[in-house]
Amino acid sequence: MRLLLALLALATARPLARAESDWCYAIQAKVSSDTCLGPDKWGGNCQKDRQSPINIVTTKAQLDPNLGRFSFSGYDKKKKWTVENNGHTVKMWLGDGVTVAGGGLASQYRAKELHLHWSKVLDAGSEHSLDGEHFAMEMHIVHMKDTGTSRDEKEDQNKIAVLAFLVEAGSKNEGFRPFVEALSDIPRPHMNTTLKESISLLDLLPNEEKLRCYFRYLGSLTTPSCDEIVVWTVFREPIQLHRDQIFAFSEKLYYDKEQKLGMTNNVRPLRSRGKRQVFKSQAPGRLLPLPLPTLLVPMLTCLMAGFL
Ligand SMILES: [Zn+2]
Repeated sequence: MRLLLALLALATARPLARAESDWCYAIQAKVSSDTCLGPDKWGGNCQKDRQSPINIVTTKAQLDPNLGRFSFSGYDKKKKWTVENNGHTVKMWLGDGVTVAGGGLASQYRAKELHLHWSKVLDAGSEHSLDGEHFAMEMHIVHMKDTGTSRDEKEDQNKIAVLAFLVEAGSKNEGFRPFVEALSDIPRPHMNTTLKESISLLDLLPNEEKLRCYFRYLGSLTTPSCDEIVVWTVFREPIQLHRDQIFAFSEKLYYDKEQKLGMTNNVRPLRSRGKRQVFKSQAPGRLLPLPLPTLLVPMLTCLMAGFL
């Protein structure tokens, strides 16, 4: 009898234990709330107050002259990268040779992986929003600080640098084609494949000239345990993908191995900005001493994006 009770206790305890550790997005919690925890119940640091994503009110962003150009290294390296369905998103693993510096960052950061967030609805798939507007998707390139981890907690606030790119529907994006084509090979969680053609990170990004207009704030990872260690860069210029390329993510990928629930709406709801200041790059005043043509080009680039 005692053994039977013990077995019963084990059997009932098991789903509970799983519920405590498994996080999921709201769309998954709706169909399987007994097995996973939606965003409002995420643990770790997720209920703290310096969280991401946030809505960026562009007119309230404060100009910071230290937010200069980024210097990208290895972003031009063409490779047949490995991509993986990890049950929450699709990740492209970036090896060790891709780094970013400049852009007001305190040191050099090494890229680890990139992944995306999306929806079937073209104005609901980004995590951050600009003036209340969401975009079709959002791509995150996740970088780790190159220098060793500090014991100083303040220093740890910028242990990770995420470059965030909003995605909008537009013309077909040839740079993304090998990536989108690979999605068919990894429908279920824990599947991975390599791209059939070599691409570089620059192939996925807007023209480098447009990458000088961006927003900056300190926040968190947008998935559990939501550690508040991220220096965020949200670029003003969106990536353009054809709507069919955008929809391919929702159609080809699944959250579950039974392929019952299509992977979509993997988007954390907005968090409060609280007392945090959002900064923006590009100080036109600093460019005034320069000759007129040099002055106009960068200014226009940002003006056209509705940045100033
Ligand atoms: Zn992300």
